[in-house]
Amino acid sequence: MAEYDEFSTQAIHSGQIDEPFGAAVSPLYDSTTFSFTDTEALLEVVGGQKQAAFYTRYGMNPSITSLEQRLAALDRAESSLAYGSGMAAISSISLAFGRGGIVCVGEIYGGTTVFLQQQASLLGINSRFIASGDDKALESTLEQGASLVYMETPANPTLKVIDIEKTAMLSHRHGARLVVDNTFATPINQQPLSLGADLALQSATKYLGGHSDLTAGVVSGRDQDITELNHWRKSLGQAIAPEIAHKLKRSLVTLPLRVERHNSNAQTLAEFLHQHPAVAQVYYPGLPSSPDHDLAARQMQGFGGMLSFDIKDSGSAARQFVDKLSLMKLAPSLGGAETLITQPVTSSHYGLPQQLLDEAGISERMIRLSVGLEAVQDLIRDLEQALAVIA
Ligand code: PLP
Repeated sequence: MAEYDEFSTQAIHSGQIDEPFGAAVSPLYDSTTFSFTDTEALLEVVGGQKQAAFYTRYGMNPSITSLEQRLAALDRAESSLAYGSGMAAISSISLAFGRGGIVCVGEIYGGTTVFLQQQASLLGINSRFIASGDDKALESTLEQGASLVYMETPANPTLKVIDIEKTAMLSHRHGARLVVDNTFATPINQQPLSLGADLALQSATKYLGGHSDLTAGVVSGRDQDITELNHWRKSLGQAIAPEIAHKLKRSLVTLPLRVERHNSNAQTLAEFLHQHPAVAQVYYPGLPSSPDHDLAARQMQGFGGMLSFDIKDSGSAARQFVDKLSLMKLAPSLGGAETLITQPVTSSHYGLPQQLLDEAGISERMIRLSVGLEAVQDLIRDLEQALAVIA
């Protein structure tokens, strides 16, 4: 459980390693194995009577376990596990808890959809995909049998918000666990476990890492579930590397500060775009005009750094606009200090069937922004000059 009440304090102080030199920050332990004074001491750890460093692939390495303590504190969780990527976390959860069937609610990250449809299905894991906000469809799909409900909120790239508390209640009524991909929100803006989810996962490659220079994943939940998941992580060799764990733990120190700035920059840009004549629609739960604003205000403490918008003109104008930006970089991914821009149809949703895109409301005119930490006036200037080209 959380050692401190405030995220800012936890991000700095939780998961400190006890070491003999009084180092102000935990050192990096890149050793693959750890030795014992005698067999009795070794057997205590092997037998599980004592938690200690043992073998790095098992995650039993101080750089990994101390990171996991910090992640658990931020996620308001009993325990956390750190992985080599977000997809490692997602595949592990699906294998451990999805064998009775997975129901995906709303828009799901493309890589997760591919894994479920093309690989997990080969192992007999059956996945069904339903729209968000349709409780009847969720209940009737759950009645057909499922062990896991999977959702992302806010979702990519439409920023749709799903009611976590209600989805958890419906899932539990049918004996399924609820897992929430919390990558867009981060635990600073939203705590899925406190709202009833069983597992919260994140691609730590995004906001947790925060500098577009590491790849990692995290899952948080109850001790019992995390212990079960750990068996899979161990056998599949998916644990985070200690060097990356060390780097990620350092990044977490500034997570609350960074998220605050991502939130305020995104809010300012959303308001700017909302009133711009070349923009047809802005998707951002922080705008009072958003259909999800009330729900987001209830279940989130901040509205996040991601937003999307539709250009009024054609898809080719959207492309012209994107190519005209100079400060904002055209790149996939999100959550870094630098502002990144994409057209979902040319990146995360490239090549998906038109019907699926239409159902999700994703057109060539849609643009997604991962709003960074730059001075917001500089970001507005860049948007203004590029929008002027197509206005
Ligand atoms: N979940 C979301 C919402 C993502 O956007 C991504 C990657 O873009 C992932 C999971 C997968 O994370 P990773 O690339 O770290 O494997």
